Amino acid sequence: MVTNLPSIGAPFVLEAAGLAQLFPSLQRRGYQVVGPAVRGSAIVYDVLNTFDELPAGWTAEQEAGQYRLKRRNDGALFGYAVGAHGWKKFLYPAEARVFAAQRNGHGFRILNDDAPSPRYAFLGMRACELAAMAIQDRVLLGEHYSEQVYQARRHGVFLVAVNCTVSAPTCFCASMHTGPPAQAGFDLALTELVDAQRHIFLVEAGTRQGAEVLAELGAKEADATARQDAEKAIKAAMAETKRKLRTSGIREMLYAAFEHPHWDEVAARCLACGNCTMVCPTCFCTTVEDVSTVDGSHAERWRKWDSCFTQNFSYIHGGSVRMSIKSRYRQWLTHKLAAWIDQFGSSGCVGCGRCITWCPAGIDITQEVATLWEQPAPAAAPADLRRVP
Ligand code: SF4
Ligand code: SF4
Repeated sequence: MVTNLPSIGAPFVLEAAGLAQLFPSLQRRGYQVVGPAVRGSAIVYDVLNTFDELPAGWTAEQEAGQYRLKRRNDGALFGYAVGAHGWKKFLYPAEARVFAAQRNGHGFRILNDDAPSPRYAFLGMRACELAAMAIQDRVLLGEHYSEQVYQARRHGVFLVAVNCTVSAPTCFCASMHTGPPAQAGFDLALTELVDAQRHIFLVEAGTRQGAEVLAELGAKEADATARQDAEKAIKAAMAETKRKLRTSGIREMLYAAFEHPHWDEVAARCLACGNCTMVCPTCFCTTVEDVSTVDGSHAERWRKWDSCFTQNFSYIHGGSVRMSIKSRYRQWLTHKLAAWIDQFGSSGCVGCGRCITWCPAGIDITQEVATLWEQPAPAAAPADLRRVP
């Protein structure tokens, strides 16, 4: 048993039953636990009340345009790669009221939303998802502008990472340098080890809050065997991650590929459904919608997720700038992998593979980029493509 506060970064071992204590420990601190659960036919992230809701013994087969739940032959709690959608729906909800206004004589009174923000504890964040959250932090907690809902929720969140010991065929985090091991940004990090003899977790605290929670779970100091086995399991997941995206020089390559014929080929398959942007853990684009009562006494402004795949997304005074699917796919991919670097200092992709799995046409970002690399752009690019839609 741990008698003093565990040192940050020191490895401990926790039995699966000890992990069950994480729930009351977090709930006593006022956190709502959000974690993976089987809902319908997928593993998704949802508010969980008990440890028993975790997807014990389940995994998911994923390929381009395909997802299928499957039973494992053990009781692993985190034996799948990533949930169907990211965590952003909790920190950056799909719909949020910006403000409301109530008619007050000849003017309006602005009504602020005083409800306290939920305090979430995210259980089961993968390394790529931590990287995605760090990207959204740069976008939504900027120096000059912070998104209020995101800021309030992000501020109080407790993060329990899980190092991947399995990889889906759609994952390419290794080539994006975002995983499989969680490097930083977590309060606790777990590595699950399950076989016929044991079901344990190697656990380390990344912050003082994490250490305080860990001290309550009955963890023991990890021996060399547990440490080595955890390392081996993560390395095996790394070796399993076969999909790759070539990133060196990608910004210049994509800016030069504006007139590439491959955009027409992708557009012939793309349905412009926007699924890829909805499931992407870094996509953040929104629209604003104003609504009012018929008598004009009450009005509200809402912020809603939007997608660059809709025609209306690029609507400006009289028409849409990007009328063709070709221009919208090109915009999405070029922004994600090139212009994002100019705007935010990193790629906008963390290699989670969701846009590949959940694309109904099976369009694969890694494959499309590989084709662009293989076949040089035929024509000279305009001078500054960042301004071209
Ligand atoms: S672009 Fe695709 S692989 Fe990259 S972070 Fe978004 S959903 Fe994941
Ligand atoms: S790439 Fe796939 S998921 Fe994205 S808009 Fe096109 S069809 Fe939909």
